[in-house]
Amino acid sequence: SSAHAVVVGGGSGGATAAKYLKRFAPEMQVTLIEPKATYYTCYGSNWVLGGHATMDDIEQTYGALKDRHGVNVVQDSVTEINPERRTVTTAGGATMNFDRLIMSPGIDFRYDAVPGITAADAERIPHAWKAGEQTVLLRRQLEAMSDGGVFVMVAPGNPFRCPPGPYERASMVAHYFKQAKPRSKIIILDNKENFSKQGLFMAGWEQHYGDMIEWVPSSEGGQVEEIDAPNLTAIADAGFTRIKADVLNYIPPQTAGAIALQMGLAGDGFWCPVNQLTFESSIHPGIYVIGDSSVAGAMPKSGHSANNQAKVAAAAIVRELSGQDPLMPSTANTCYSLITPDHAISVAAVYAYKDGTIAAVEGAGGVSPADAPASFRQQEALYTKGWYDGITADIWG
Ligand code: FAD
Repeated sequence: SSAHAVVVGGGSGGATAAKYLKRFAPEMQVTLIEPKATYYTCYGSNWVLGGHATMDDIEQTYGALKDRHGVNVVQDSVTEINPERRTVTTAGGATMNFDRLIMSPGIDFRYDAVPGITAADAERIPHAWKAGEQTVLLRRQLEAMSDGGVFVMVAPGNPFRCPPGPYERASMVAHYFKQAKPRSKIIILDNKENFSKQGLFMAGWEQHYGDMIEWVPSSEGGQVEEIDAPNLTAIADAGFTRIKADVLNYIPPQTAGAIALQMGLAGDGFWCPVNQLTFESSIHPGIYVIGDSSVAGAMPKSGHSANNQAKVAAAAIVRELSGQDPLMPSTANTCYSLITPDHAISVAAVYAYKDGTIAAVEGAGGVSPADAPASFRQQEALYTKGWYDGITADIWG
């Protein structure tokens, strides 16, 4: 009988993996386990906060995976994996055997990293770092805020999901404030000293938003040490700095998805080490970890990375099961960020496997030029939408 591959998580990595396993080996049985019937992409969720896209625009479903690609999509959540017996158990009570398992459970949050805030507070203090209800909640809070209010974002240290994400979010919130409540302020309290595409973001902020956005690096009071949740206040500098928000967006430090941690796939750490040639776990053979949960050398935690890694893992599995060596993969990442709906910047890189890790290929990729005319930024804003349409078609289409 044919081999059975089970994929845990129907996000950017998992949905791609399921589709491409079927493409590479149509005879293989592929089961995708995902609790949600509807997935909202994090990419584009900042546009919803900016008010120029809706939740419908970032909604993805599983019909094509089932009907067009022959993936067995199971709406359930994995609660237990037995790596020796090669079984997974779900919340719904099903147990299934697998020959190979791909895990792409995304991220979870370390609410214990800073005192004064817990996971339950996310109902009032959204992270909006998993798209869906959290996106809607943050947008509603921004809409309800009065003109002259303060939006405070607490940004995590490295590594975390989507390095340019917090700064695109600040841009999109500024875009909304500029139209709807122009006396308002945005403060980013950052647990690091610099950030992705920093020069391009800061030049764009100055150009479009004057001094509406204030970025505070960790060494200058940005390192948040405590949250006074009832008072929406971030505390830094051993208590000397207290910043009261009207809307507080606390983005906690992150870990691999909870199920990966629970199964020991991260060892003593927060992220899952893998053989970076194949994405097979360094801890449990036969189990592959891709996407944000994995340690993938120089690749950032992005949807584009997860999509590429899924294809590498799927190909490695299909080749291994037919007695072939893995291919030498080449992967890529692109992250577009909107500063306004008509002004986008991007970063791109190409990666190759070298000396046991995934390394950036020198001379390939880079960021958008510093001095470019408005028409260039506008062109990149068109590419941003094109990237979204292309990658979501590749993943869920
Ligand atoms: P996810 O896409 O989060 O998928 C994980 C899935 O696993 C979820 O659907 C979850 O329900 C499921 N799951 C979890 N636990 C279980 C379980 N026990 N059983 C079954 N299923 C489970 N990336 C880009 O490339 N470009 C961008 O422009 C971009 N913008 C972003 C903007 C923001 C604001 C944010 C927050 C992120 C952005 N990203 C972007 C990053 C991107 O969203 C993630 O890196 C990507 O989704 C990671 O894919 P993944 O498969 O690892 O996790």
